[in-house]
Amino acid sequence: MSDALNIDLHTHSNCSDGSLGPAELIARAAAAGVQVLALTDHDTVAGLEDAQRSAHEHGLQLVPGVEISASWRAQAIHVLGLWIDPCSPQLCCSLRAQADLRRSRMVKICAQLTKLKLPGAALLAGVQAIPGLPTRAHLAQGLLAGGHVDSFDAAFRKYLGKGKRAHIAVEWPALQVVVGWICAAGGVAAIAHPTRYALSAGARRRLLADFAAAGGTALEVVSGGNGGQHAETCAALAVHYGLFGTVGSDFHNPQAAWNPLGRSLKLPDCVTPVWRGFGL
Ligand code: AMP
Ligand code: MN
Ligand code: MN
Ligand code: MN
Repeated sequence: MSDALNIDLHTHSNCSDGSLGPAELIARAAAAGVQVLALTDHDTVAGLEDAQRSAHEHGLQLVPGVEISASWRAQAIHVLGLWIDPCSPQLCCSLRAQADLRRSRMVKICAQLTKLKLPGAALLAGVQAIPGLPTRAHLAQGLLAGGHVDSFDAAFRKYLGKGKRAHIAVEWPALQVVVGWICAAGGVAAIAHPTRYALSAGARRRLLADFAAAGGTALEVVSGGNGGQHAETCAALAVHYGLFGTVGSDFHNPQAAWNPLGRSLKLPDCVTPVWRGFGL
């Protein structure tokens, strides 16, 4: 394929906290000109089968993916698994454990919300009724819909964000362990949105050194949710740590009009694209 490939290796469907079904997401991406797309739902591969069927119909190439929550020095880090085998027994078993962690966290967060005089039981019933894996984004939507906060972001600022009154720290598996699952599933591990963590520049460098030592090989250099400064910083980091570069919108829903599908995010020339090794 050509250098002007329209590629997006980070998106969500309603199997996690996206709003579109996997098939609908693919149809929309294809219509927006995306040629290669990874579906990377939080801790689940449930949408990949439908996405693959839709990709076939629309002549789009689907990269099977996942975005796994991991821990590194008490910080939650998101690791993208790209070109994974979604049937890998180890990965499937590990993702079942991640789902359990997510569901038990929801119960704890909602208990905390009840203590804060919010309708925790109703909010919990709401997230338990959704077909996909529950995330804090679903709770934020519930808090907004119930008029308990003025905006989606305010739900994180007031209650759900780190250090806030209904924050429950999750002991996600260690970064090295998660990289191991992805490698065992034949995939490429990439750190998602590396500038979005509450880490100093020095700590971020140590994170990348540990990640590379564990077998991680890529860095999300261009992330739709971040500005131009992000790409420059991340390109330099990728080169320094010998990591391939990846690009992704982190698309969740069409309402976020500033982050549409199909923008053809461009990887800086100094970085080797992760898709180079996959004939793209
Ligand atoms: P979880 O993975 O359950 O912790 O849910 C976090 C998800 O909520 C992220 O993947 C984002 O899609 C969404 N989100 C939106 N705004 C924020 C925010 N301010 N802080 C954390 N997560 C946010
Ligand atoms: Mn999300
Ligand atoms: Mn993420
Ligand atoms: Mn994401």
